[in-house]
Amino acid sequence: VGVAALVVRQRIKTSGRWARVMAIVKEFEEKCGTPEGKLKQLADAMTVEMHAGLVSEGGSKLKMLISYVDNLPTGDEKGVFYALDLGGTNFRVLRVQLGGREDGIVHQEFAEASIPPELMSGTSEALFDYIAEKLANFVDEEEQRFHQPPNRQRELGFTFSFPVMQTSINSGNLIRWTKGFSIDDAVGQDVVAGLTKALQRKGVEMRVAALVNDTIGTLAGGRYTNSDVAVAVILGTGSNAAYVERAQAIPKWHGPLPQSGEMVINMEWGNFRSSHLPLTEYDHGLDIESLNPGEQIFEKMISGMYLGEILRRVLLRLAEEASFFGDEVPPKLKIPFILRTPEMSAMHHDTSSDLRVVGSKLKDILEIPSTSLKTRRVVVQLCDIVATRGARLAASGVLGVLKKMGRDTLRDDGKKTVIAMDGGLYEHYTEYRECLENTLNELLGDETANSIAIEHSNDGSGIGAALLAASHSLYADEKSS
Ligand code: BGC
Ligand code: MG
Repeated sequence: VGVAALVVRQRIKTSGRWARVMAIVKEFEEKCGTPEGKLKQLADAMTVEMHAGLVSEGGSKLKMLISYVDNLPTGDEKGVFYALDLGGTNFRVLRVQLGGREDGIVHQEFAEASIPPELMSGTSEALFDYIAEKLANFVDEEEQRFHQPPNRQRELGFTFSFPVMQTSINSGNLIRWTKGFSIDDAVGQDVVAGLTKALQRKGVEMRVAALVNDTIGTLAGGRYTNSDVAVAVILGTGSNAAYVERAQAIPKWHGPLPQSGEMVINMEWGNFRSSHLPLTEYDHGLDIESLNPGEQIFEKMISGMYLGEILRRVLLRLAEEASFFGDEVPPKLKIPFILRTPEMSAMHHDTSSDLRVVGSKLKDILEIPSTSLKTRRVVVQLCDIVATRGARLAASGVLGVLKKMGRDTLRDDGKKTVIAMDGGLYEHYTEYRECLENTLNELLGDETANSIAIEHSNDGSGIGAALLAASHSLYADEKSS
Protein backbone atom coordinates (compact mmCIF):
# COMPACT_ATOMS: atom_id res chain seq x y z
CA VAL A 1 0.00 0.00 0.00
CA GLY A 2 1.41 3.35 -0.97
CA VAL A 3 1.73 6.29 1.38
CA ALA A 4 -1.07 8.15 -0.40
CA ALA A 5 -3.46 5.24 0.10
CA LEU A 6 -2.60 5.10 3.80
CA VAL A 7 -3.31 8.77 4.23
CA VAL A 8 -6.64 8.40 2.48
CA ARG A 9 -7.61 5.42 4.62
CA GLN A 10 -6.63 7.36 7.72
CA ARG A 11 -8.86 10.26 6.65
CA ILE A 12 -11.80 7.98 6.05
CA LYS A 13 -11.28 6.42 9.46
CA THR A 14 -11.10 9.87 11.05
CA SER A 15 -14.16 11.21 9.31
CA GLY A 16 -16.12 8.07 10.19
CA ARG A 17 -15.03 8.53 13.76
CA TRP A 18 -16.20 12.13 13.79
CA ALA A 19 -19.50 11.25 12.21
CA ARG A 20 -19.99 8.76 15.04
CA VAL A 21 -18.98 11.35 17.65
CA MET A 22 -21.39 13.91 16.29
CA ALA A 23 -24.20 11.36 16.10
CA ILE A 24 -23.78 10.40 19.75
CA VAL A 25 -23.59 14.06 20.83
CA LYS A 26 -26.62 14.97 18.78
CA GLU A 27 -28.67 12.12 20.20
CA PHE A 28 -27.67 13.10 23.73
CA GLU A 29 -28.57 16.72 23.13
CA GLU A 30 -31.99 15.78 21.78
CA LYS A 31 -32.74 13.49 24.71
CA CYS A 32 -31.76 16.27 27.13
CA GLY A 33 -34.11 18.76 25.54
CA THR A 34 -36.08 20.97 27.92
CA PRO A 35 -38.42 23.09 25.80
CA GLU A 36 -40.62 25.54 27.66
CA GLY A 37 -43.71 23.35 27.28
CA LYS A 38 -42.00 20.42 28.95
CA LEU A 39 -40.77 22.60 31.81
CA LYS A 40 -44.31 23.82 32.42
CA GLN A 41 -45.59 20.25 32.46
CA LEU A 42 -42.90 19.43 34.99
CA ALA A 43 -43.85 22.40 37.16
CA ASP A 44 -47.46 21.21 37.09
CA ALA A 45 -46.38 17.69 37.97
CA MET A 46 -44.39 19.14 40.86
CA THR A 47 -47.47 20.96 42.23
CA VAL A 48 -49.57 17.83 41.91
CA GLU A 49 -46.99 15.82 43.85
CA MET A 50 -46.75 18.56 46.49
CA HIS A 51 -50.47 18.29 47.09
CA ALA A 52 -50.32 14.52 47.30
CA GLY A 53 -47.38 14.60 49.71
CA LEU A 54 -49.25 16.96 52.01
CA VAL A 55 -52.35 14.77 52.13
CA SER A 56 -50.81 11.67 53.65
CA GLU A 57 -47.45 10.28 54.71
CA GLY A 58 -46.17 8.31 51.71
CA GLY A 59 -48.79 9.91 49.44
CA SER A 60 -46.10 10.95 47.01
CA LYS A 61 -42.46 10.51 46.13
CA LEU A 62 -42.22 14.05 47.51
CA LYS A 63 -42.08 13.58 51.25
CA MET A 64 -43.20 17.13 52.06
CA LEU A 65 -41.79 16.81 55.57
CA ILE A 66 -43.22 18.83 58.42
CA SER A 67 -40.42 20.86 59.98
CA TYR A 68 -42.15 21.90 63.22
CA VAL A 69 -41.05 25.42 62.35
CA ASP A 70 -44.21 27.51 62.47
CA ASN A 71 -42.52 30.80 63.21
CA LEU A 72 -39.63 32.20 61.27
CA PRO A 73 -37.13 34.60 62.88
CA THR A 74 -38.43 38.06 63.63
CA GLY A 75 -35.20 39.87 64.45
CA ASP A 76 -35.88 39.92 68.21
CA GLU A 77 -33.70 36.86 68.90
CA LYS A 78 -31.08 37.46 71.56
CA GLY A 79 -28.20 35.59 73.15
CA VAL A 80 -25.28 33.38 72.19
CA PHE A 81 -26.12 30.26 70.23
CA TYR A 82 -24.20 27.55 68.48
CA ALA A 83 -24.94 25.82 65.23
CA LEU A 84 -23.64 22.72 63.55
CA ASP A 85 -24.12 22.22 59.85
CA LEU A 86 -23.70 18.71 58.46
CA GLY A 87 -24.80 17.69 55.04
CA GLY A 88 -22.23 17.45 52.31
CA THR A 89 -18.54 17.05 52.04
CA ASN A 90 -17.86 19.65 54.72
CA PHE A 91 -19.34 20.46 58.04
CA ARG A 92 -19.23 23.69 59.95
CA VAL A 93 -19.60 24.80 63.51
CA LEU A 94 -20.74 28.31 64.33
CA ARG A 95 -21.12 30.55 67.29
CA VAL A 96 -23.47 33.46 66.84
CA GLN A 97 -24.18 36.32 69.20
CA LEU A 98 -27.59 37.76 68.52
CA GLY A 99 -28.28 41.26 69.76
CA GLY A 100 -31.98 41.59 69.13
CA ARG A 101 -33.72 44.12 66.92
CA GLU A 102 -31.28 46.94 67.64
CA ASP A 103 -28.01 45.17 67.16
CA GLY A 104 -28.71 42.17 64.93
CA ILE A 105 -25.82 39.73 64.62
CA VAL A 106 -23.16 41.09 66.95
CA HIS A 107 -20.59 38.37 66.47
CA GLN A 108 -20.25 35.36 64.31
CA GLU A 109 -17.39 32.87 64.30
CA PHE A 110 -17.12 29.61 62.51
CA ALA A 111 -14.83 26.68 61.85
CA GLU A 112 -15.02 24.25 59.00
CA ALA A 113 -13.76 20.70 58.57
CA SER A 114 -14.19 18.09 55.91
CA ILE A 115 -15.76 14.75 56.63
CA PRO A 116 -13.22 11.96 56.14
CA PRO A 117 -14.72 9.72 53.41
CA GLU A 118 -14.46 6.59 55.55
CA LEU A 119 -16.81 8.17 58.09
CA MET A 120 -19.48 8.52 55.42
CA SER A 121 -20.01 4.78 55.38
CA GLY A 122 -18.95 3.68 58.86
CA THR A 123 -21.01 3.72 62.02
CA SER A 124 -23.13 6.54 63.36
CA GLU A 125 -21.12 6.51 66.58
CA ALA A 126 -17.90 7.16 64.67
CA LEU A 127 -19.47 10.00 62.69
CA PHE A 128 -21.06 11.68 65.70
CA ASP A 129 -17.92 11.27 67.81
CA TYR A 130 -15.89 13.01 65.14
CA ILE A 131 -18.36 15.88 64.93
CA ALA A 132 -18.70 16.18 68.70
CA GLU A 133 -14.95 16.33 69.06
CA LYS A 134 -14.66 19.20 66.57
CA LEU A 135 -17.51 21.00 68.24
CA ALA A 136 -15.93 20.53 71.67
CA ASN A 137 -12.67 22.09 70.49
CA PHE A 138 -14.50 24.98 68.90
CA VAL A 139 -16.53 25.68 72.02
CA ASP A 140 -13.38 25.70 74.17
CA GLU A 141 -11.53 28.05 71.87
CA GLU A 142 -14.40 30.46 71.50
CA GLU A 143 -15.22 30.64 75.17
CA GLN A 144 -11.60 31.30 76.02
CA ARG A 145 -11.37 33.94 73.36
CA PHE A 146 -14.42 35.72 74.65
CA HIS A 147 -13.22 35.25 78.24
CA GLN A 148 -16.47 33.65 79.16
CA PRO A 149 -16.96 31.66 82.31
CA PRO A 150 -17.83 28.14 81.25
CA ASN A 151 -21.39 28.42 80.11
CA ARG A 152 -23.67 25.62 81.25
CA GLN A 153 -26.65 26.61 79.18
CA ARG A 154 -25.28 26.24 75.73
CA GLU A 155 -27.79 25.60 73.02
CA LEU A 156 -27.33 24.44 69.50
CA GLY A 157 -29.19 24.49 66.23
CA PHE A 158 -28.37 21.32 64.32
CA THR A 159 -28.58 21.57 60.55
CA PHE A 160 -28.73 18.02 59.27
CA SER A 161 -29.22 17.99 55.51
CA PHE A 162 -30.84 14.66 54.89
CA PRO A 163 -34.47 13.54 54.91
CA VAL A 164 -35.65 13.33 58.51
CA MET A 165 -39.11 12.51 59.86
CA GLN A 166 -39.30 15.05 62.65
CA THR A 167 -41.13 14.18 65.84
CA SER A 168 -40.66 17.65 67.34
CA ILE A 169 -38.59 20.76 66.69
CA ASN A 170 -35.60 19.02 68.25
CA SER A 171 -35.97 15.35 67.44
CA GLY A 172 -36.39 13.27 64.33
CA ASN A 173 -35.52 10.00 62.68
CA LEU A 174 -33.36 9.67 59.61
CA ILE A 175 -35.46 8.34 56.73
CA ARG A 176 -32.53 7.52 54.48
CA TRP A 177 -29.14 8.82 53.47
CA THR A 178 -28.46 10.69 50.25
CA LYS A 179 -25.39 12.27 48.60
CA GLY A 180 -22.97 9.40 49.10
CA PHE A 181 -23.53 8.81 52.82
CA SER A 182 -24.45 5.26 53.78
CA ILE A 183 -24.25 4.62 57.51
CA ASP A 184 -26.76 1.82 57.89
CA ASP A 185 -27.17 1.80 61.64
CA ALA A 186 -28.28 5.46 61.65
CA VAL A 187 -31.33 4.89 59.43
CA GLY A 188 -34.55 5.06 61.41
CA GLN A 189 -32.73 6.49 64.45
CA ASP A 190 -33.12 9.85 66.13
CA VAL A 191 -30.20 11.96 64.94
CA VAL A 192 -30.44 14.34 67.89
CA ALA A 193 -30.14 11.44 70.34
CA GLY A 194 -27.10 10.23 68.39
CA LEU A 195 -25.43 13.64 68.55
CA THR A 196 -26.39 14.24 72.18
CA LYS A 197 -24.83 10.94 73.28
CA ALA A 198 -21.63 11.78 71.44
CA LEU A 199 -21.54 15.22 73.08
CA GLN A 200 -21.91 13.54 76.47
CA ARG A 201 -19.07 11.13 75.67
CA LYS A 202 -16.89 14.15 74.89
CA GLY A 203 -18.04 15.96 78.03
CA VAL A 204 -19.68 18.87 76.22
CA GLU A 205 -22.72 20.33 77.89
CA MET A 206 -24.96 21.38 75.08
CA ARG A 207 -28.68 21.16 74.45
CA VAL A 208 -29.90 20.63 70.90
CA ALA A 209 -32.73 23.16 70.71
CA ALA A 210 -33.59 22.78 67.03
CA LEU A 211 -33.05 20.14 64.38
CA VAL A 212 -33.40 21.56 60.89
CA ASN A 213 -32.79 20.67 57.28
CA ASP A 214 -30.43 23.04 55.44
CA THR A 215 -33.35 24.37 53.38
CA ILE A 216 -35.18 25.26 56.60
CA GLY A 217 -32.06 26.91 58.01
CA THR A 218 -31.62 28.87 54.78
CA LEU A 219 -35.24 29.97 54.87
CA ALA A 220 -34.87 31.12 58.48
CA GLY A 221 -31.58 32.86 57.79
CA GLY A 222 -33.04 34.52 54.71
CA ARG A 223 -36.15 35.69 56.55
CA TYR A 224 -34.02 37.26 59.27
CA THR A 225 -32.60 39.73 56.76
CA ASN A 226 -35.54 40.00 54.37
CA SER A 227 -39.15 39.58 55.44
CA ASP A 228 -40.23 38.72 51.87
CA VAL A 229 -38.31 35.44 51.87
CA ALA A 230 -40.82 32.60 51.55
CA VAL A 231 -38.91 29.87 49.70
CA ALA A 232 -35.43 28.40 50.10
CA VAL A 233 -33.62 26.33 47.51
CA ILE A 234 -30.32 24.50 47.91
CA LEU A 235 -28.28 23.69 44.82
CA GLY A 236 -25.10 22.15 46.09
CA THR A 237 -23.88 18.58 46.42
CA GLY A 238 -27.56 17.71 46.71
CA SER A 239 -30.68 19.71 46.00
CA ASN A 240 -33.85 20.51 47.87
CA ALA A 241 -36.43 23.22 48.58
CA ALA A 242 -38.51 24.44 51.52
CA TYR A 243 -41.36 26.92 51.64
CA VAL A 244 -43.97 28.41 53.93
CA GLU A 245 -47.28 26.55 53.66
CA ARG A 246 -50.66 27.35 55.17
CA ALA A 247 -51.16 24.94 58.06
CA GLN A 248 -54.71 24.32 56.91
CA ALA A 249 -53.46 23.10 53.56
CA ILE A 250 -51.64 20.21 55.24
CA PRO A 251 -54.22 17.44 55.76
CA LYS A 252 -51.62 15.06 57.18
CA TRP A 253 -50.84 17.48 60.03
CA HIS A 254 -52.93 16.40 63.00
CA GLY A 255 -51.22 18.56 65.59
CA PRO A 256 -52.61 21.81 66.95
CA LEU A 257 -53.04 24.60 64.43
CA PRO A 258 -50.10 26.95 64.91
CA GLN A 259 -50.92 30.48 65.91
CA SER A 260 -49.16 31.84 62.87
CA GLY A 261 -51.37 29.64 60.71
CA GLU A 262 -48.22 28.56 58.90
CA MET A 263 -45.87 25.62 58.78
CA VAL A 264 -42.58 25.37 56.94
CA ILE A 265 -42.35 22.30 54.71
CA ASN A 266 -39.16 20.53 53.73
CA MET A 267 -40.12 19.21 50.31
CA GLU A 268 -37.19 16.85 49.71
CA TRP A 269 -37.64 17.68 46.05
CA GLY A 270 -34.52 15.73 45.15
CA ASN A 271 -36.72 12.65 45.16
CA PHE A 272 -39.14 14.13 42.60
CA ARG A 273 -39.79 11.91 39.63
CA SER A 274 -41.97 12.33 36.60
CA SER A 275 -42.40 10.76 33.18
CA HIS A 276 -41.77 14.24 31.78
CA LEU A 277 -38.17 14.25 33.03
CA PRO A 278 -35.75 14.03 30.09
CA LEU A 279 -33.85 10.95 31.30
CA THR A 280 -31.12 9.39 29.18
CA GLU A 281 -29.27 6.09 29.22
CA TYR A 282 -26.46 7.86 31.08
CA ASP A 283 -28.85 8.84 33.87
CA HIS A 284 -30.09 5.28 34.13
CA GLY A 285 -26.54 3.97 34.34
CA LEU A 286 -25.64 6.51 37.00
CA ASP A 287 -28.73 5.67 39.01
CA ILE A 288 -28.31 1.90 38.88
CA GLU A 289 -24.71 2.10 40.02
CA SER A 290 -25.41 4.67 42.74
CA LEU A 291 -25.66 4.04 46.48
CA ASN A 292 -29.39 4.81 46.32
CA PRO A 293 -30.80 3.35 43.08
CA GLY A 294 -34.30 4.49 42.21
CA GLU A 295 -34.10 7.38 44.68
CA GLN A 296 -33.33 11.09 44.26
CA ILE A 297 -33.84 11.00 40.48
CA PHE A 298 -34.40 14.77 40.20
CA GLU A 299 -31.35 15.42 42.37
CA LYS A 300 -29.26 13.14 40.14
CA MET A 301 -30.11 15.32 37.13
CA ILE A 302 -29.61 18.74 38.67
CA SER A 303 -27.17 18.72 41.59
CA GLY A 304 -23.45 19.15 42.01
CA MET A 305 -22.64 15.64 43.10
CA TYR A 306 -23.80 14.26 39.77
CA LEU A 307 -23.32 16.70 36.87
CA GLY A 308 -19.64 15.87 36.40
CA GLU A 309 -20.42 12.18 36.61
CA ILE A 310 -23.04 12.42 33.85
CA LEU A 311 -20.43 14.16 31.69
CA ARG A 312 -17.91 11.40 32.42
CA ARG A 313 -20.38 8.77 31.33
CA VAL A 314 -21.00 10.48 28.00
CA LEU A 315 -17.26 10.95 27.42
CA LEU A 316 -16.67 7.27 28.22
CA ARG A 317 -19.23 6.20 25.63
CA LEU A 318 -17.62 8.52 23.07
CA ALA A 319 -14.21 7.07 23.86
CA GLU A 320 -15.42 3.51 23.64
CA GLU A 321 -17.64 3.76 20.60
CA ALA A 322 -16.11 6.57 18.59
CA SER A 323 -12.44 6.60 19.67
CA PHE A 324 -13.05 10.15 20.88
CA PHE A 325 -9.70 10.36 22.65
CA GLY A 326 -7.82 8.22 20.14
CA ASP A 327 -7.47 4.47 19.78
CA GLU A 328 -7.23 3.82 23.48
CA VAL A 329 -9.92 4.49 26.04
CA PRO A 330 -8.22 6.57 28.76
CA PRO A 331 -8.22 4.23 31.81
CA LYS A 332 -8.97 7.07 34.22
CA LEU A 333 -12.17 7.81 32.39
CA LYS A 334 -13.55 4.53 33.70
CA ILE A 335 -13.36 5.67 37.33
CA PRO A 336 -16.78 6.77 38.64
CA PHE A 337 -16.96 10.32 39.99
CA ILE A 338 -13.41 11.16 38.88
CA LEU A 339 -14.74 14.16 36.98
CA ARG A 340 -16.13 16.52 39.58
CA THR A 341 -18.60 19.28 38.87
CA PRO A 342 -16.19 22.12 39.80
CA GLU A 343 -13.81 20.82 37.09
CA MET A 344 -16.66 20.58 34.64
CA SER A 345 -17.62 24.14 35.50
CA ALA A 346 -14.04 25.30 34.88
CA MET A 347 -14.03 23.64 31.45
CA HIS A 348 -17.44 25.04 30.60
CA HIS A 349 -16.23 28.48 31.57
CA ASP A 350 -13.07 28.35 29.44
CA THR A 351 -13.02 31.50 27.31
CA SER A 352 -9.52 31.09 25.86
CA SER A 353 -9.42 30.74 22.09
CA ASP A 354 -7.55 27.43 22.23
CA LEU A 355 -9.60 26.11 25.16
CA ARG A 356 -6.49 25.54 27.17
CA VAL A 357 -8.32 25.05 30.45
CA VAL A 358 -10.23 22.17 28.87
CA GLY A 359 -6.97 20.75 27.58
CA SER A 360 -5.24 20.94 30.93
CA LYS A 361 -8.18 19.50 32.88
CA LEU A 362 -8.38 16.54 30.49
CA LYS A 363 -4.67 16.07 30.97
CA ASP A 364 -4.57 16.47 34.74
CA ILE A 365 -7.69 14.52 35.62
CA LEU A 366 -8.02 11.95 32.87
CA GLU A 367 -4.34 11.76 31.90
CA ILE A 368 -5.08 12.39 28.25
CA PRO A 369 -1.80 13.91 27.07
CA SER A 370 -3.10 15.96 24.17
CA THR A 371 -6.39 16.80 22.55
CA SER A 372 -7.34 18.67 19.40
CA LEU A 373 -9.27 21.91 19.52
CA LYS A 374 -12.14 20.13 17.84
CA THR A 375 -12.24 17.56 20.63
CA ARG A 376 -12.14 20.26 23.28
CA ARG A 377 -15.02 22.07 21.64
CA VAL A 378 -17.14 18.96 21.89
CA VAL A 379 -16.27 18.64 25.58
CA VAL A 380 -17.47 22.21 26.18
CA GLN A 381 -20.63 21.49 24.22
CA LEU A 382 -21.30 18.47 26.45
CA CYS A 383 -20.75 20.54 29.60
CA ASP A 384 -23.30 22.95 28.23
CA ILE A 385 -25.87 20.26 27.48
CA VAL A 386 -25.58 18.72 30.96
CA ALA A 387 -25.56 22.04 32.86
CA THR A 388 -28.36 23.57 30.79
CA ARG A 389 -30.64 20.62 31.35
CA GLY A 390 -29.91 20.68 35.10
CA ALA A 391 -30.44 24.42 35.48
CA ARG A 392 -33.62 24.46 33.42
CA LEU A 393 -35.07 21.56 35.38
CA ALA A 394 -34.21 23.32 38.63
CA ALA A 395 -36.06 26.39 37.33
CA SER A 396 -39.12 24.27 36.57
CA GLY A 397 -38.99 23.02 40.16
CA VAL A 398 -38.98 26.59 41.44
CA LEU A 399 -41.94 27.40 39.21
CA GLY A 400 -43.78 24.38 40.64
CA VAL A 401 -43.28 25.67 44.19
CA LEU A 402 -44.39 29.19 43.24
CA LYS A 403 -47.49 27.74 41.61
CA LYS A 404 -48.36 25.78 44.71
CA MET A 405 -48.03 28.98 46.73
CA GLY A 406 -50.10 30.98 44.27
CA ARG A 407 -47.12 33.24 43.63
CA ASP A 408 -46.60 32.44 39.96
CA THR A 409 -48.75 35.34 38.86
CA LEU A 410 -48.59 39.00 39.72
CA ARG A 411 -49.95 39.70 43.20
CA ASP A 412 -52.58 42.30 43.91
CA ASP A 413 -50.78 43.58 46.98
CA GLY A 414 -47.68 44.29 44.92
CA LYS A 415 -45.60 42.23 47.35
CA LYS A 416 -42.43 40.50 46.33
CA THR A 417 -41.62 36.85 46.76
CA VAL A 418 -38.00 36.25 47.58
CA ILE A 419 -36.29 32.91 47.14
CA ALA A 420 -33.24 32.39 49.34
CA MET A 421 -30.79 30.27 47.41
CA ASP A 422 -27.56 28.62 48.49
CA GLY A 423 -25.16 25.83 47.64
CA GLY A 424 -21.86 25.55 45.85
CA LEU A 425 -23.40 24.78 42.49
CA TYR A 426 -25.49 27.95 42.54
CA GLU A 427 -22.67 29.97 44.00
CA HIS A 428 -19.76 28.87 41.81
CA TYR A 429 -21.12 27.54 38.52
CA THR A 430 -21.83 30.78 36.65
CA GLU A 431 -23.33 29.26 33.49
CA TYR A 432 -25.64 27.11 35.59
CA ARG A 433 -26.78 30.02 37.75
CA GLU A 434 -27.41 32.32 34.82
CA CYS A 435 -29.30 29.67 32.93
CA LEU A 436 -31.45 28.95 35.99
CA GLU A 437 -32.31 32.62 36.46
CA ASN A 438 -33.00 33.23 32.77
CA THR A 439 -35.18 30.16 32.54
CA LEU A 440 -37.21 31.18 35.57
CA ASN A 441 -37.81 34.59 34.00
CA GLU A 442 -38.75 32.94 30.72
CA LEU A 443 -41.24 30.67 32.47
CA LEU A 444 -42.80 33.42 34.59
CA GLY A 445 -43.00 36.06 31.89
CA ASP A 446 -41.59 39.57 32.29
CA GLU A 447 -44.31 41.06 34.44
CA THR A 448 -44.41 38.34 37.10
CA ALA A 449 -40.65 37.85 36.96
CA ASN A 450 -40.32 41.36 38.39
CA SER A 451 -42.15 40.35 41.54
CA ILE A 452 -39.90 37.33 42.16
CA ALA A 453 -36.34 37.72 43.33
CA ILE A 454 -33.60 35.23 44.01
CA GLU A 455 -31.22 36.17 46.78
CA HIS A 456 -28.00 34.39 47.46
CA SER A 457 -28.08 33.43 51.11
CA ASN A 458 -24.43 32.99 51.91
CA ASP A 459 -24.32 30.12 54.39
CA GLY A 460 -27.62 31.21 55.77
CA SER A 461 -28.38 27.68 56.90
CA GLY A 462 -25.98 27.80 59.85
CA ILE A 463 -27.17 31.20 61.06
CA GLY A 464 -30.74 30.11 60.43
CA ALA A 465 -30.23 27.10 62.68
CA ALA A 466 -28.79 29.33 65.42
CA LEU A 467 -31.79 31.65 65.05
CA LEU A 468 -34.19 28.73 65.36
CA ALA A 469 -32.28 27.49 68.39
CA ALA A 470 -32.83 30.96 69.86
CA SER A 471 -36.55 30.94 69.23
CA HIS A 472 -36.83 27.46 70.74
CA SER A 473 -34.47 28.12 73.61
CA LEU A 474 -35.23 27.06 77.15
CA TYR A 475 -32.90 29.69 78.55
CA ALA A 476 -33.22 32.61 76.14
CA ASP A 477 -34.51 34.99 78.79
CA GLU A 478 -31.58 34.36 81.12
CA LYS A 479 -29.11 34.53 78.25
CA SER A 480 -30.20 37.85 76.95
CA SER A 481 -30.49 39.58 80.28
C1 BGC B 1 -31.10 15.92 50.98
C2 BGC B 1 -31.82 17.13 51.51
C3 BGC B 1 -30.91 18.34 51.47
C4 BGC B 1 -30.32 18.52 50.08
C5 BGC B 1 -29.39 19.70 50.00
C6 BGC B 1 -30.47 16.22 49.63
O1 BGC B 1 -29.70 15.14 49.20
O2 BGC B 1 -31.98 14.83 50.85
O3 BGC B 1 -32.29 16.89 52.81
O4 BGC B 1 -31.66 19.48 51.82
O5 BGC B 1 -29.63 17.36 49.71
O6 BGC B 1 -28.35 19.62 50.90
MG1 MG C 1 -24.55 23.51 52.94
